[in-house]
Amino acid sequence: MPESFNQFMLQETVLNIGFDDTDSPKGMCTTFLAYKIVDLLQKQKTEFLDFPRLIRFNPNIPWKTRGNGAVSLKIKTKNPSKIKNQIKNLVSKYSDIKNGANPGLVFFESDTIPAEFIEFSNLALWQLIKRDHAKKFAEKNNLEFFYQGNGQGLVGAIGAIGYDFQDHTLELLSYRKRAKFGKERKLSSQSVKIMQEKTFPNTFNSFDTKKGRVLITPHGPDPVFYGVRGENVDSLVYATTILKSDEKLDGYMIFKSNQGTGDHLKNELNFENMKPYASGQITGTVSNTPKIEKGGHVFFKILSKNHEFWCAVYKPTGISSVASNLIKGDKICVGGGVRKASKKFSRIINLEFIDVISLAKNLAKTNPRCKLCNKRMKSKGKNQGFQCIRCGRKSSKKTIVEISRKVKKQLYIPELSAHRHLTRPLQRIGKSNKTSKFDKSLSWFCVYGN
Ligand SMILES: [Zn+2]
Repeated sequence: MPESFNQFMLQETVLNIGFDDTDSPKGMCTTFLAYKIVDLLQKQKTEFLDFPRLIRFNPNIPWKTRGNGAVSLKIKTKNPSKIKNQIKNLVSKYSDIKNGANPGLVFFESDTIPAEFIEFSNLALWQLIKRDHAKKFAEKNNLEFFYQGNGQGLVGAIGAIGYDFQDHTLELLSYRKRAKFGKERKLSSQSVKIMQEKTFPNTFNSFDTKKGRVLITPHGPDPVFYGVRGENVDSLVYATTILKSDEKLDGYMIFKSNQGTGDHLKNELNFENMKPYASGQITGTVSNTPKIEKGGHVFFKILSKNHEFWCAVYKPTGISSVASNLIKGDKICVGGGVRKASKKFSRIINLEFIDVISLAKNLAKTNPRCKLCNKRMKSKGKNQGFQCIRCGRKSSKKTIVEISRKVKKQLYIPELSAHRHLTRPLQRIGKSNKTSKFDKSLSWFCVYGN
């Protein structure tokens, strides 16, 4: 073997691994597969260059798995082909194909991520990307890729590698032992409440104090016991010491994520790009009187750059009353997902936030007030004018009064219980995480002993 070839063999290479859509509503979970892969790599003393990355893509596409989340890993290795084979095996083993998973797996050897990847990922965050487009992208860029089922998972697998964080959060996911999969999760809700109080604002969305509800435990059969979201490793690990449960867990892993960043709504929607399932924001003026439909859902129109768009605010978001109190002329910025046209409505934006920029004056006509008695005059009949019943004083026309507004000039976001993975919680408004840099010495991965 020539010496140069030998040296090449020993050289370390940076390997990016992306995978998605390995889960189904009936069980398993892409993050658990990631935990298994990392466990295997850790045992081989693989060097990790970043946290495992958990990326949530456009939440408004119809065929997403539970959270539309994909995972990518960035490692340094001298033996990429061995690692690729191991991972291929784990992906087939842990993908729930018979229950509808469409796993995709992508390998990309490079320390830097080309702009095309970032662009692809950015589009997957707010648009609907067809799987054929992902397949073409993979072929064009000479990626090593594998898929089963229809290959929808390739979109997230490529997107997870390409995601360019402007802001991020972390999530500590703890996993159950196999014997407990599908069993009820018993976690002291009091301990979750205390944990939230002690770690605020370095954790978020753990406990809904209004409804007294624990938000960190999933309800499905998947292997996750709980997931705590926050800003840095120390706060998350500290949180696990406060949480109380009798169940012996398998371990935990901390992911770097775009959850809680609101990034899917950054893109500006307009007449041209407002295709079904797109997500984004739009600024304009309320152009009709909001209608309250059965169930308390509110519908209104917004005029933006000479086009009108329907907006819907559903009751469970907790901001339908804000929408119903908007009036013509209010200037607002709204964000959400575009729903396909139905018989009743053309394309409609399902709102995930309402930011009131300026309020119109709410003027109304009322019967005039008698200046002597300070009483409202009574109408004498149609076009007959008004008269004070106490002193008989008359007036010919109604007066205009300004009615105080029930909406304020502020940002309104849904109630905690209606938050999506990507929703930016109030405590993170105007902030971005710059503290949680990856460092090998951090305890971002742990398998508990028996
Ligand atoms: Zn009077």
